[in-house]
Amino acid sequence: VFLPHLVASLEVEETYIMIKPDGVQRGLVGEIISRFERKGFQLTGLKLFQCPKELAQEHYKDLQSKPFFPKLVDYITSGPVVCMAWEGVGVVASARKLIGVTNPLNAEPGTIRGDLAVQTGRNVVHGSDSPENGKREIALWFKEGELCEWTPVQEPWLKE
Ligand code: UDP
Ligand code: MG
Repeated sequence: VFLPHLVASLEVEETYIMIKPDGVQRGLVGEIISRFERKGFQLTGLKLFQCPKELAQEHYKDLQSKPFFPKLVDYITSGPVVCMAWEGVGVVASARKLIGVTNPLNAEPGTIRGDLAVQTGRNVVHGSDSPENGKREIALWFKEGELCEWTPVQEPWLKE
Protein backbone atom coordinates (compact mmCIF):
# COMPACT_ATOMS: atom_id res chain seq x y z
CA VAL A 1 0.00 0.00 0.00
CA PHE A 2 1.08 3.57 -0.69
CA LEU A 3 1.56 5.44 2.58
CA PRO A 4 2.31 9.02 1.54
CA HIS A 5 2.87 10.12 5.15
CA LEU A 6 5.73 7.63 5.43
CA VAL A 7 7.57 8.75 2.30
CA ALA A 8 10.12 11.46 3.09
CA SER A 9 9.78 14.54 0.90
CA LEU A 10 12.60 16.57 -0.67
CA GLU A 11 11.41 19.76 0.99
CA VAL A 12 12.92 21.46 4.02
CA GLU A 13 10.32 20.90 6.73
CA GLU A 14 9.81 21.45 10.44
CA THR A 15 8.46 18.90 12.87
CA TYR A 16 7.37 19.01 16.49
CA ILE A 17 8.95 16.26 18.57
CA MET A 18 8.01 15.85 22.21
CA ILE A 19 9.43 13.55 24.86
CA LYS A 20 6.36 12.58 26.87
CA PRO A 21 6.33 12.48 30.71
CA ASP A 22 7.30 8.77 30.83
CA GLY A 23 10.40 9.48 28.72
CA VAL A 24 11.43 12.27 31.10
CA GLN A 25 10.69 10.21 34.24
CA ARG A 26 12.59 7.20 32.87
CA GLY A 27 15.70 9.27 32.16
CA LEU A 28 15.51 8.84 28.38
CA VAL A 29 15.83 12.52 27.41
CA GLY A 30 19.48 12.34 26.32
CA GLU A 31 19.00 9.03 24.51
CA ILE A 32 16.04 10.34 22.51
CA ILE A 33 17.56 13.71 21.60
CA SER A 34 20.76 11.90 20.53
CA ARG A 35 18.94 9.88 17.92
CA PHE A 36 17.71 12.99 16.07
CA GLU A 37 21.07 14.75 16.47
CA ARG A 38 23.05 11.77 15.17
CA LYS A 39 20.72 11.38 12.20
CA GLY A 40 21.70 14.88 11.10
CA PHE A 41 18.57 16.94 11.70
CA GLN A 42 18.79 20.45 13.11
CA LEU A 43 17.42 21.41 16.50
CA THR A 44 15.70 24.81 16.37
CA GLY A 45 13.76 24.78 19.66
CA LEU A 46 14.06 22.97 23.01
CA LYS A 47 12.49 23.33 26.45
CA LEU A 48 11.33 21.37 29.50
CA PHE A 49 7.69 22.24 30.12
CA GLN A 50 4.76 21.31 32.36
CA CYS A 51 1.86 21.15 29.90
CA PRO A 52 -1.49 22.62 31.00
CA LYS A 53 -4.60 20.54 30.36
CA GLU A 54 -6.02 22.97 27.75
CA LEU A 55 -2.86 22.73 25.65
CA ALA A 56 -2.86 18.91 25.75
CA GLN A 57 -6.51 18.96 24.63
CA GLU A 58 -5.74 21.38 21.78
CA HIS A 59 -2.67 19.42 20.66
CA TYR A 60 -4.67 16.17 20.46
CA LYS A 61 -7.99 17.76 19.38
CA ASP A 62 -8.35 15.36 16.40
CA LEU A 63 -8.60 12.51 18.94
CA GLN A 64 -11.12 14.15 21.28
CA SER A 65 -13.92 11.71 20.41
CA LYS A 66 -11.76 8.65 21.15
CA PRO A 67 -12.44 6.69 24.34
CA PHE A 68 -8.79 7.01 25.41
CA PHE A 69 -8.77 10.84 25.09
CA PRO A 70 -9.22 11.69 28.82
CA LYS A 71 -6.46 9.24 29.77
CA LEU A 72 -4.23 10.65 27.04
CA VAL A 73 -4.65 14.18 28.39
CA ASP A 74 -3.92 12.95 31.95
CA TYR A 75 -0.79 11.18 30.67
CA ILE A 76 0.59 14.18 28.77
CA THR A 77 -0.02 16.51 31.75
CA SER A 78 1.26 14.04 34.39
CA GLY A 79 4.77 15.54 34.50
CA PRO A 80 7.16 17.68 32.47
CA VAL A 81 7.63 17.05 28.77
CA VAL A 82 10.55 18.04 26.53
CA CYS A 83 9.33 20.16 23.61
CA MET A 84 11.48 20.25 20.49
CA ALA A 85 11.38 21.75 17.02
CA TRP A 86 13.55 20.00 14.41
CA GLU A 87 14.24 21.12 10.87
CA GLY A 88 15.52 19.32 7.79
CA VAL A 89 14.80 17.87 4.38
CA GLY A 90 12.05 15.29 4.77
CA VAL A 91 12.23 15.56 8.57
CA VAL A 92 8.50 14.93 9.19
CA ALA A 93 8.32 11.43 7.73
CA SER A 94 11.89 10.58 8.68
CA ALA A 95 11.27 11.46 12.33
CA ARG A 96 8.17 9.24 12.30
CA LYS A 97 10.37 6.39 11.06
CA LEU A 98 12.94 7.04 13.80
CA ILE A 99 10.09 7.05 16.36
CA GLY A 100 8.33 3.88 15.13
CA VAL A 101 4.62 3.01 14.98
CA THR A 102 2.16 4.00 17.72
CA ASN A 103 2.05 0.62 19.52
CA PRO A 104 5.60 0.01 20.79
CA LEU A 105 5.12 -3.78 20.64
CA ASN A 106 4.70 -3.46 16.86
CA ALA A 107 7.45 -0.86 16.43
CA GLU A 108 10.58 -2.12 14.70
CA PRO A 109 13.71 -2.71 16.77
CA GLY A 110 16.01 0.24 16.14
CA THR A 111 13.17 2.74 16.48
CA ILE A 112 12.70 4.77 19.67
CA ARG A 113 9.40 3.11 20.57
CA GLY A 114 10.65 -0.30 19.38
CA ASP A 115 13.72 -0.08 21.61
CA LEU A 116 12.44 1.81 24.64
CA ALA A 117 8.70 1.21 25.24
CA VAL A 118 6.03 -1.50 25.58
CA GLN A 119 2.59 0.22 25.67
CA THR A 120 0.66 2.58 23.39
CA GLY A 121 -0.36 4.60 26.43
CA ARG A 122 3.32 4.99 27.45
CA ASN A 123 5.06 5.35 24.11
CA VAL A 124 7.62 7.97 25.25
CA VAL A 125 7.63 10.33 22.28
CA HIS A 126 5.44 12.33 19.90
CA GLY A 127 6.18 13.35 16.31
CA SER A 128 4.06 15.44 13.93
CA ASP A 129 2.33 13.40 11.20
CA SER A 130 2.44 15.99 8.37
CA PRO A 131 4.32 19.19 7.50
CA GLU A 132 1.10 21.16 8.14
CA ASN A 133 0.78 19.67 11.63
CA GLY A 134 4.49 20.26 12.19
CA LYS A 135 3.94 23.98 11.72
CA ARG A 136 0.69 23.96 13.70
CA GLU A 137 2.22 22.13 16.66
CA ILE A 138 5.42 24.23 16.77
CA ALA A 139 3.24 27.36 16.84
CA LEU A 140 1.14 25.80 19.60
CA TRP A 141 4.02 24.77 21.89
CA PHE A 142 6.56 27.55 21.32
CA LYS A 143 6.24 31.29 21.82
CA GLU A 144 7.70 33.98 19.61
CA GLY A 145 11.44 34.23 20.34
CA GLU A 146 11.82 30.66 21.64
CA LEU A 147 13.07 29.27 18.32
CA CYS A 148 16.59 29.81 16.94
CA GLU A 149 17.72 30.18 13.35
CA TRP A 150 21.33 29.03 13.07
CA THR A 151 23.72 27.29 10.68
CA PRO A 152 25.31 24.06 11.96
CA VAL A 153 29.05 23.89 11.13
CA GLN A 154 28.60 20.27 10.05
CA GLU A 155 26.25 21.23 7.22
CA PRO A 156 28.79 20.73 4.34
CA TRP A 157 29.43 17.23 5.74
CA LEU A 158 25.73 16.34 5.69
CA LYS A 159 24.65 17.86 2.38
CA GLU A 160 26.53 17.76 -0.94
N1 UDP B 1 -3.05 6.53 22.16
C1 UDP B 1 -3.56 5.73 23.18
N2 UDP B 1 -4.37 4.68 22.83
C2 UDP B 1 -4.68 4.39 21.55
C3 UDP B 1 -4.16 5.22 20.53
C4 UDP B 1 -3.34 6.28 20.87
O1 UDP B 1 -3.30 5.97 24.35
O2 UDP B 1 -5.40 3.42 21.28
C5 UDP B 1 -2.17 7.65 22.52
C6 UDP B 1 -0.69 7.36 22.30
O3 UDP B 1 0.06 8.00 23.32
C7 UDP B 1 -0.44 7.99 20.95
C8 UDP B 1 -1.32 9.23 21.04
O4 UDP B 1 -2.49 8.78 21.71
O5 UDP B 1 0.93 8.28 20.75
C9 UDP B 1 -1.69 9.85 19.72
O6 UDP B 1 -2.27 8.88 18.90
P1 UDP B 1 -1.89 8.79 17.37
O7 UDP B 1 -2.80 7.81 16.72
O8 UDP B 1 -1.80 10.16 16.78
O9 UDP B 1 -0.42 8.10 17.41
P2 UDP B 1 1.03 8.70 17.11
O10 UDP B 1 0.89 9.72 16.02
O11 UDP B 1 1.55 9.27 18.40
O12 UDP B 1 1.84 7.50 16.69
MG1 MG C 1 -0.39 11.39 15.88
